[in-house]
Amino acid sequence: MNATDLPGAPFFSYQHQQLCVEQLRLQDLADTHGTPLFVYSKAAMLHALAAYQRGFAGRKAKVHYAMKANSSLGVLQVFVQAGCGFDIVSAGELARVLAAGGRASDVIFSGVGKTRAEMQTALQAGISCFNVESEPELDVLSEVAVSMGKVAPVSIRVNPNVDPKTHPYISTGLKGNKFGIAHERTLQAYQHAASLPGLKVTGIDCHIGSQITTTEPYLDALDKVLDLVEQIEAAGIAIHHLDFGGGLGINYNGDTPPAADDLWARLLARLDERGFGQRQLMIEPGRSLVGNAGVCVSEVQFIKPGEQKNFCIIDAAMNDLPRPAMYEAFHQIVPLSLTNAPTQVYDVVGPVCESGDWIGRDRSLNVQAGDMVAVLSAGAYCMSMSSNYNTRGRATEVLVDGDKAHVIRSRETAADQMRGEHLV
Ligand SMILES: *Cc1c(COP(=O)(O)O)cnc(C)c1O
Repeated sequence: MNATDLPGAPFFSYQHQQLCVEQLRLQDLADTHGTPLFVYSKAAMLHALAAYQRGFAGRKAKVHYAMKANSSLGVLQVFVQAGCGFDIVSAGELARVLAAGGRASDVIFSGVGKTRAEMQTALQAGISCFNVESEPELDVLSEVAVSMGKVAPVSIRVNPNVDPKTHPYISTGLKGNKFGIAHERTLQAYQHAASLPGLKVTGIDCHIGSQITTTEPYLDALDKVLDLVEQIEAAGIAIHHLDFGGGLGINYNGDTPPAADDLWARLLARLDERGFGQRQLMIEPGRSLVGNAGVCVSEVQFIKPGEQKNFCIIDAAMNDLPRPAMYEAFHQIVPLSLTNAPTQVYDVVGPVCESGDWIGRDRSLNVQAGDMVAVLSAGAYCMSMSSNYNTRGRATEVLVDGDKAHVIRSRETAADQMRGEHLV
């Protein structure tokens, strides 16, 4: 493999045939901390963020990290220190932001099903904006705010009905999706919001999907959102900020998404053309900030030859890496040590009792029991989606910074998992 093709390069790279993260060998980290083991590169996260920051140089713009991609406290801390805000989708995520040292005033709250209790918690904490996804939510949020003597800042998430050309489970801006308010009803929704005593309209937002690898869907969505802003402002309702969501894809397997700074050069040119270049802008990237900043290291338990397939059974499973089972997603799987031994084709699977528990199909690998592999591009939507299925403890997480490794999550024990359970 060409070194620069490795997802996560140059922060993950082979040195003397050994896969390294920054200045450390992954094999050494696996020996110290055991497997399965998530390893993140702090430099890779900051590098990904820097592309957005370059793209927005000289503009009024704020990056709100969509923390559902990876909400581990040590990861959030990196983004707090880098000056990011956060896009949350639950009160639990707000608690994490605060625990990581972030400020509520840098938080925006998305999601179609916010509960009254979550609205109260977020209003009490003083978040900067609620991204509202339906007309009933406007009424309930206003009621909750009035009952607390507060005014809730709101943006309405519009569904621009554009096809992001990604997996159906991760496209969110099409008519049939549960997200946002239909393009055609947006003006009415804003007029309704402006009439409610507990709300103050501050912005507009959209988020069209995830793992988007072309610029066109963003340009289409941008034009539709700007058309709406013109309509809404003509009706006398001021829109202070424009939030274009997240969704930029990463390289999993030769994918070639635009670089964040190139994407934003195109979008800013269109915003300038239409006279919106000096507005307050916001974005909510998740995957593109962390996806290729992490890998999952796993030990080969058994090689199991079969009549139709050979299986390589590793100690990471669908509870650690749910994306293949959920979306048939592809992660590259590579050995920690490169050798010239002949390869065999395997289905790489975990120990969980489900046929859906596969991590990669038809992969050429030269590995034996006891060898280590790395599942690449595992920084986003892996740990944050992981579960305890089969009473498997969640994996250890290590954040690497140069030649230093910090454990940011200890391996979950059986006792940790049973905490809060009661015999009758
Ligand atoms: C998930 C999500 C994001 C982030 O999406 P990525 O594809 O990870 O960049 C941003 N905004 C909203 C509202 C989301 O639900």
